Amino acid sequence: MSMADSSGTGAQAPGFYTFKVGDIEVIALHEGVLVRDRPAGFVPNATDEEVAEAYAAAGMARDKLTITFNALAVRTSGQVVLIDTGLGEFGPPGTGMLLSNLKAAGIQPEDVSTVIISHCHGDHILGLRRKDEQLVFPNAEILVPEKEWDFWMDDAKMATASEAAKGNFEVCRQVFGTIADKVRRYAWDSEIAPGLTAVRANGHTPGMSAIRIASGDQAMMFVADITNNPLVFARHPEWLAMFDMDPAETIATRKRILDMAAAEKLRLSFYHAPFPATGYIAKTATGYEFLPALWTAA
Ligand SMILES: [Zn+2]
Repeated sequence: MSMADSSGTGAQAPGFYTFKVGDIEVIALHEGVLVRDRPAGFVPNATDEEVAEAYAAAGMARDKLTITFNALAVRTSGQVVLIDTGLGEFGPPGTGMLLSNLKAAGIQPEDVSTVIISHCHGDHILGLRRKDEQLVFPNAEILVPEKEWDFWMDDAKMATASEAAKGNFEVCRQVFGTIADKVRRYAWDSEIAPGLTAVRANGHTPGMSAIRIASGDQAMMFVADITNNPLVFARHPEWLAMFDMDPAETIATRKRILDMAAAEKLRLSFYHAPFPATGYIAKTATGYEFLPALWTAA
């Protein structure tokens, strides 16, 4: 064996992972990982020491904020649906991989017929446009929760928002400002693509939606940001992350969906779980445990 053979390249296999839900094909797409110093007060209703312990207990660095980002592509009834878009060209190093992973899965941007946005935070919508303002998915209809649109696109709400919150209002205008007529706004409890139903999941933001995916007698749910990393926030279901906008609704939504997933043994995909970010939920004495689905080759 030569020296070169043993040195490795540092490269990974492409970050996509495919599984079936009835006749629907679901493809988890890795967008990247962000690791930075965790700001004080990241969990406003726990001490920084408790939070450090929880990150360490989940196998992550005590003092870092570790966030992973993972979207879904769905092949249903001959259509390609993308659920959330990642940060595109606007994220920090270590992110922005969704497009190359989509292509590695055999899907070109032009093939995407529908983009479903779960909520309007930048890490879910910035991937809709390039820095030159071109649309990344030129043939796609863009679907946004109507309650999310009504909040973030309201100039009066932006005018009264805190300085910290203003940034995301600006991101929404950057992404959607000139394409409002291309955006279809969707309601909870409606089928928005074949087999895909929007489910109320507000709290983290005013209009966040989960997406139930069902075919035949099988089902799963994309749960967006009902938790930040579930290895921490499913175990500590009362904890808020500083991004969670409505404390009471955040916790109520999280418990409602995790209780349902545990009772029904429903497969979930989380946007911020470790790739491929899909698995099951068990109830424990103090909260919930995220159980990664078994990786299968076929
Ligand atoms: Zn997010």
